[in-house]
Amino acid sequence: MGNLVDLFGRDIDYLRISVIDKCNLKCFYCVPEIGTCSPEEGQVISAEDIIKMTEAASTLGISKIRLTGGEPLIRKDIVDLVSRISAVEGIRDLSLTTNGILLKELASKLAEAGLNRVNISLDSLEPDNFKKITRGGILEKTLQGIYKALEEGLTPVKINVVAMKGINDSEISKFAELTLENDLHVRFIEYMPVNSHHEKQWGDCFMPISDIKDLCSQVGVIQEEESFQGNGPASYYRIEGARGLVGFISPVSRHFCAKCNRLRITSDGKIKPCLFSADEIDLLEAKGDVEKMKEMFMEALKLRPDPEKIDKNPNGRFNCNKRGMLQIGG
Ligand code: SAM
Repeated sequence: MGNLVDLFGRDIDYLRISVIDKCNLKCFYCVPEIGTCSPEEGQVISAEDIIKMTEAASTLGISKIRLTGGEPLIRKDIVDLVSRISAVEGIRDLSLTTNGILLKELASKLAEAGLNRVNISLDSLEPDNFKKITRGGILEKTLQGIYKALEEGLTPVKINVVAMKGINDSEISKFAELTLENDLHVRFIEYMPVNSHHEKQWGDCFMPISDIKDLCSQVGVIQEEESFQGNGPASYYRIEGARGLVGFISPVSRHFCAKCNRLRITSDGKIKPCLFSADEIDLLEAKGDVEKMKEMFMEALKLRPDPEKIDKNPNGRFNCNKRGMLQIGG
C-alpha cells in the first residue's frame, strides 16, 4: 500500500463516496423543494465502478471509506456493496452516513457484510420538529435505527446534528444530555452555505460553534477529551460524568483545512479534491481501468488548495459547481 500525501504535506487516507443522489427525506437545508440540485440529474455510479475506484484508492494509501449520499440505504445493492468494499485489500475502516430511517431493518445485514460503524443524522428530538425539518420524516424510525446500530455494534455511533438558529437551537442542550446516559458521540455541525438558493435561509439560521458550545455548557462542565481527538474535523468534549461525548465541527467559523485528510467522490463519479474548490476529475472517463483511476487520484491530489489560504479567509465560500450535498455527500 502506498502513502498519499498532497502538496502541502497532508496525509490522505480517507475517501467519502456518495453512492446515490436521492434521499428518502427532504431536509429543508439540503434538498430543494422541487427537483434535485444536480446539474445533470440521474447518473449514479455503478457498484462495479465503486469497487474499482476503491481498489485504485486503497493501493494508493486510502484505508478508510465512508459511504454517503443521498441516502445510501435506499440503494438496492447497499449490503452487497458493503460486503465487496470491505473485502478490498487495505480497507481497514468502512463506515456509512445515514438518516437512520432504514437502519432498523438493515443494521444486522450491514454489520455482517463488514460495515464497521455508522454516523446518523438527526436534527431534532421532537417528532413535529423532525417532521418539519425533514419535510415529512418520522422521528421514531431514526431512533429505532440508532438503537439497532448500538445493538449490532456499529460503534461508536455518531449522531450528527446540524445546529440552526430558530430551528433546533432550543434542543441543543437536550441533544447534549443524550450523552449523559448513552455511549454516543453527539456532534454538532455548523450549517454550511452550500446551495446558492439557500443563501438567505443560511444567513438567518447560521450559528457558530462557539454559541453551540455555550448551550452545551449549560448541561454541565465540559472538558476537552484529549485522548479522543481523531484526525477528523471534530473536537471532542465530555460533559462531567457523561458516558458519551459531544463533538463540535466548525466548517464555517473555523476551517479545519490544515487537518483535511480526505477526498470525495460525487454520486456521478467525479473526484472532488476540496469542498472549497470547483475542481473535479471524472473517474468514469477511466472506463473501469484501475491504473488510469490511480493516475486520476494523483492528479486530484495536486488540485488540493493551500490550507493556509483557505484558513486565512474565514468567509471562503464552498464551491460545489451548483451541486447540493446529495451529490457530494456531506
Ligand atoms: N442521507 C444521509 C444522512 O442524512 O446522513 C447522508 C447524506 S447527508 C447529505 C450527509 C450529511 O450532510 C448530513 O449529516 C446532513 O445533515 C449534512 N448536510 C447537508 N447539508 C448541509 C449543510 N448545508 N450544512 C451542514 N451539513 C449539511
